[in-house]
Amino acid sequence: ASSPDLAPDRQPEDPDAALRPKNLREFVGQEAARENLRVFIEAARGRGEAMDHVLFFGPPGLGKTTLAQIVAREMGVGFRSTSGPVIAKAGDLAALLTNLEPNDVLFIDEIHRLNPVVEEILYPAMEDRALDIIIGEGPSARSVRIDLPPFTLVGATTRQGLLTTPLRDRFGIPVRLNFYTHDELDKVVTRGARLLGLAIDPDGAREIARRSRGTPRVAGRLLRRVRDFAEVAGEGTVTKAIADSALTRLEIDRLGLDAMDRRYLAMIATTYKGGPVGVETLAAGLSEPRDTVEEVIEPYLIQLGLVARTARGRMLNDAGWEHMEMSPPQRASD
Ligand code: ADP
Repeated sequence: ASSPDLAPDRQPEDPDAALRPKNLREFVGQEAARENLRVFIEAARGRGEAMDHVLFFGPPGLGKTTLAQIVAREMGVGFRSTSGPVIAKAGDLAALLTNLEPNDVLFIDEIHRLNPVVEEILYPAMEDRALDIIIGEGPSARSVRIDLPPFTLVGATTRQGLLTTPLRDRFGIPVRLNFYTHDELDKVVTRGARLLGLAIDPDGAREIARRSRGTPRVAGRLLRRVRDFAEVAGEGTVTKAIADSALTRLEIDRLGLDAMDRRYLAMIATTYKGGPVGVETLAAGLSEPRDTVEEVIEPYLIQLGLVARTARGRMLNDAGWEHMEMSPPQRASD
């Protein structure tokens, strides 16, 4: 199909592409989400209609893009992909929408970063399958309504809370993705090794799974790095010992935390004596954008119970002090 692709498909240079599950059956974990999607897909297919609009939300690397592609494949429809920040003008989105084939999936990653003018176009498109276009300027300007083919908008966001209410309300199927368990990541790693043609023993897979930060994308990345170490060391099979030594050299600790996670914890512990400290202050101290701190670093540390988000700021929990092998400072007044 010819179309003004605003964001070229991610696949060609995407190192994740090789490991992406192609259908719901291959998709590991997220059971509730998967079972629900299976029902919605089947029902829509049975009626020959587009599926309702879906919003996937959750931390990066948990499978939002993968599921969007799976929805299209299982529906047997086309998949177009773009991302919020890339759609600069209302006209860009209008071009995308008018080029869709009936029942296509349009995937918008980082949908919370849509420009408000563009977002306005989306409301009638999602609700009434119509585009309201203003033609002309000044007193002679008039609005023209263009009908769109039925389509499914699949939005993905790391921050559901940043979506405007009118946009959030227009998704019939909101789906939260959670961090994966070690068992689930074990399956992701084992499957990945098979696809990469890499021999791995169960303890080796387990070790990588345990240190993957609850995230399949991290599991895939660690698997590729461990493979490098295994190949260079001339070992045929990834064992627990090889995985452990490779991950330790990559500065991935026992809990799967990386150097940035530990810098974050150390800053709260040492510079701010355990907190509370505001996220802006932490972001400035780490020289990272606040979004990265909130969307990438913190969710997993909070999930592990190392850090708490309080009204006054971030605080290190007992488990956080323990993991840093430090003790909280004695307070004079205690
Ligand atoms: P997101 O869009 O949430 O950032 P992606 O869908 O791009 O995440 O997934 C990142 C990588 O993780 C992909 O390479 C994909 O192969 C892998 N992945 C994600 N979810 C799963 C899963 N449930 N099972 C197996 N691999 C997965």
